[in-house]
Amino acid sequence: MEAFTDADLTHTGSEINYYFVCKRKLWLFSHNIELESDSDLVLQGKLLHEHSYKRKLKEIAIDKIKIDFIEKTNEVHEIKRSRKVEDAHLYQLLYYLYYLKKHSGLDTKGVLNYPLLKKTVKVELTPQKERKLQQIIHEINQITKLTKPPEAKWIPYCKSCAYSEMCWG
Ligand code: SF4
Repeated sequence: MEAFTDADLTHTGSEINYYFVCKRKLWLFSHNIELESDSDLVLQGKLLHEHSYKRKLKEIAIDKIKIDFIEKTNEVHEIKRSRKVEDAHLYQLLYYLYYLKKHSGLDTKGVLNYPLLKKTVKVELTPQKERKLQQIIHEINQITKLTKPPEAKWIPYCKSCAYSEMCWG
């Protein structure tokens, strides 16, 4: 693996998430083929976000990342409409913690909020998780450098993916 530099803090949280969901989706999204804003799921997610937690949280945007933050507890919150806790959510949030550490020298903890599950998961950036995250970012860099997107492979997620028409239409 090449040496890791701050220049690698150029990804969005969504890119980290899509690495786990589908490498083709990661490539399409990272090449600015953005269909997400029209997706019903994203819209539902946004509404859920606004109704469930918005009043408690302060949204902060730093370069390409946008996070929900509680100043008093130094916690970064990420809200997911999913009914399942997934690595995609975990590493997206770990990336925010990592970003804040490298970019701003902030030592923060994370909380994943699942309003549909009525569940929260505490997330900590341990040295082991940090190494794994660096490996993931390295692989994301390799994928996004490809001249064309990886082939489409059907997964159940395709049914609700914003790129479904493009891959399977
Ligand atoms: S439709 Fe399926 S294969 Fe295509 S980008 Fe989405 S998840 Fe990947």
